[in-house]
Amino acid sequence: MQPDPDIQTVSKGYNCKLCDVKIPNEASLEAHMKGKKHQHLCRLRTKRKAQEENSVYVSGFKPDTSTSKLAEYFQQFGPVSEVIMDKERSLYAIVEFAESVSTEAALTQLQHRLDGLKLRVKPRERKEFKLASKGKHDRTKPHISLEKLNHELCLTSSVNEQMQKMVEIFQLSENDSKARELLVQLLQEVFIEFLPGCQIVPFGSSVNTFGSHSCDLDLVLDLENTKAFQNRTRKSEETAENQSEDGQSEDSILSDIDLATASPAELLELLAAILRKCTPGVHKVQTVSSARLPVVKFSHRQLNLQGDITINNRLAVRNTRFLQLCSGLDSRVRPLVYTVRFWAKQKQIAGNPSGGGPLLNNYALTLLVLFYLQTVSPPVLPSVEQLKNMACEEEECVLDGWDCTFPSQPISVPPSKNTDDLCTLLFGFFTYFSKFDFPGSVVSLRAGRVLPITDFLSRDDELSDTAESSDTTRQNPTIRPKLGPVNILDPFELHHNVAGNLTERTHKNLRREFCEAEKYCRSLQYQHKSSKGKSWGLVKLLAPHTEGPSGSHDAIEKVPEITVPFRADILSPSFRTELSSAGEAFRVLWFKKVCSTLEVVFNDILKCAPSEHVEISQDQTSAKEDTKDEEVNNNQSLDISCHQPIAHSGIKRPLAMEEGPSSSSSPQGKRMRLEPSADYPEVAHWNWTQIHPVWAGRRKIRRVLLKTSDETSKPEGGCSSIESRVTQYIIENDSNPKEKVQFRVDAAVRGSDECTKAVLTFKATDDPAGHFQDFFHFLDSFLPKMVETLLAKSE
Ligand code: ATP
Ligand code: MG
Repeated sequence: MQPDPDIQTVSKGYNCKLCDVKIPNEASLEAHMKGKKHQHLCRLRTKRKAQEENSVYVSGFKPDTSTSKLAEYFQQFGPVSEVIMDKERSLYAIVEFAESVSTEAALTQLQHRLDGLKLRVKPRERKEFKLASKGKHDRTKPHISLEKLNHELCLTSSVNEQMQKMVEIFQLSENDSKARELLVQLLQEVFIEFLPGCQIVPFGSSVNTFGSHSCDLDLVLDLENTKAFQNRTRKSEETAENQSEDGQSEDSILSDIDLATASPAELLELLAAILRKCTPGVHKVQTVSSARLPVVKFSHRQLNLQGDITINNRLAVRNTRFLQLCSGLDSRVRPLVYTVRFWAKQKQIAGNPSGGGPLLNNYALTLLVLFYLQTVSPPVLPSVEQLKNMACEEEECVLDGWDCTFPSQPISVPPSKNTDDLCTLLFGFFTYFSKFDFPGSVVSLRAGRVLPITDFLSRDDELSDTAESSDTTRQNPTIRPKLGPVNILDPFELHHNVAGNLTERTHKNLRREFCEAEKYCRSLQYQHKSSKGKSWGLVKLLAPHTEGPSGSHDAIEKVPEITVPFRADILSPSFRTELSSAGEAFRVLWFKKVCSTLEVVFNDILKCAPSEHVEISQDQTSAKEDTKDEEVNNNQSLDISCHQPIAHSGIKRPLAMEEGPSSSSSPQGKRMRLEPSADYPEVAHWNWTQIHPVWAGRRKIRRVLLKTSDETSKPEGGCSSIESRVTQYIIENDSNPKEKVQFRVDAAVRGSDECTKAVLTFKATDDPAGHFQDFFHFLDSFLPKMVETLLAKSE
């Protein structure tokens, strides 16, 4: 056999460098070389090599230059097969030609100009083809295997000990901390050369006492002193007619940039250049200007650390100090936070492994734990407002207009009277949040309690005094937090929802995991060590999330039930304002709007025929009776014809006013529901008939109709007029109407001790041909989206 450069002879056989595998003997080597993997990698390598040879690296174009514009320019050298742009920053592009002669032609041309700018065109960097590194020191991998962790946990004798063990295992080791300190020192030394007076300050998990082996190094570059320095130097230069006193300004990088007016993107590029060119060991430097706080990311080779640098982010340094303080206030805080962080990582509900993402980040998750410790009785931690009052004058601190005052030392805060052990507190944490109305509440660590969502619903120009805004030190009252399925206010930057990145789906997962954890913590398996050597306590709680439905979800999904979640962020401004003055009764008002919207969907969009009148019953008892008895009882229910949507009569005025003196047998009961303490669910039901298969083939028909309409393309349920036309089309083309489907819909509103939502239960009442299943399947995805679309428009 010809010697192959990929094959290395080693002491016990061979090593294939391309596939990174060991092969014991010659027979297996031959099989390996003919095998699929080796062949595939050989082909891939050839392809990559050809791509590299046919490509050039281009930079220097305007940031808004499109790939097609570049392609058009380079066509003059030969056919262009692909242009790949650096998405994040639009700073460079790889232009791939179909033939290598075109590459040569492009490279030999002395000057390239596009849109008045000189382009830099270079040969594409040749990289050695390698399999992805197996990462011997990969920090994203746990430094302890789950098996080993479980073993360690089982050796302890109680959940309390297990939680202490979590800290012991995961906390930053002395070496970890030392490596971080060294990197901070190195960066400080390098940056100060270019930016006199600047300061590199670590924040986040490296210093907040909740760090773990794998955590990144968050850094702030504080340029306040440098700005002052630049100002002084410029003034003295002006007076001394460009004769610099100390020589620093002349050759300093500061002569190229005005720190007071530079944009964040310009500053980041400057930092990135210093990191790339002048900082030993630093590589993989990347600027992310699109983040909420623009950031430069980098890695350090020898110290094996990843870091982030933001500029002038003093609030982050301060909130890190706050986490440190909380950690020092009570010895139970750290074991709880470590355990919850690991649990959330295992269940894939927190951590956002690659930076931005729809999961909770560790900061937001930590705030949830601290909030729980503020609300437990008696509290383990004081509210931020209480902490502020415990601080002395020198500790007063206002950053960017936000009051960030709290004591610098735990000694200023009286110890907690709470004596619960860790096992109880962890159980309590899961119980508290498994019953928490995330979409209908706002978590405020500042107040140390839940604030009603209605305080945050009014339009910015119609602000009333909220718990936050009545605070005398409250600033910026005109900016509202971005509401979402989960609302956690930052303790200092009060208009910032630190969980504003969560989606409906991640919220649902979060809630499901809280419920599962709560259920498990109720079991003896959690609370007592197994005498038979079985896993117990934290072990099962910390088991990784597995894909696919677990038994209990399966059961839930089989119930013909559809939920419409309360989403404050999609409601029309006028409806939000209306809800904001309703107090706790906002749920009832919202539910009525949902009911009127449902009527529009069934009646007008899906053209179902009403079989009966709709009811909104008085309370749970009468609702249950209604379910048993299909007869409409006008004396006990608010009776609205299906042709007269509830919105006309039910939303504008409170329910109690509409009933009229004779319509209710218990008017008091109805009025109660509109008062703040009331949380009785309202219920409604309808009976509908459908004789056409309005659920079948909608996607295709929608596509065809969209082609002939002015409407822009919308997803299913995203536009009422298109959906009505789709239904109409199906009806008109249904020459042979099938047997009808009759079904009943029961709707109820939930909330306050669970997420605010409308729950719709479906039941086929007459379905001889068995079509209901298909219809329901369609409604399951269509209905929530359609209702949301209509709610967003509704006045
Ligand atoms: P890890 O890096 O291990 O995931 P961490 O404790 O560093 O955990 P991050 O989520 O990385 O937590 O946040 C680091 C710091 O960045 C926080 O301490 C906080 O100061 C700031 N921060 C992060 N997210 C937010 C946010 N949504 N709002 C305000 N500040 C935030
Ligand atoms: Mg971090």
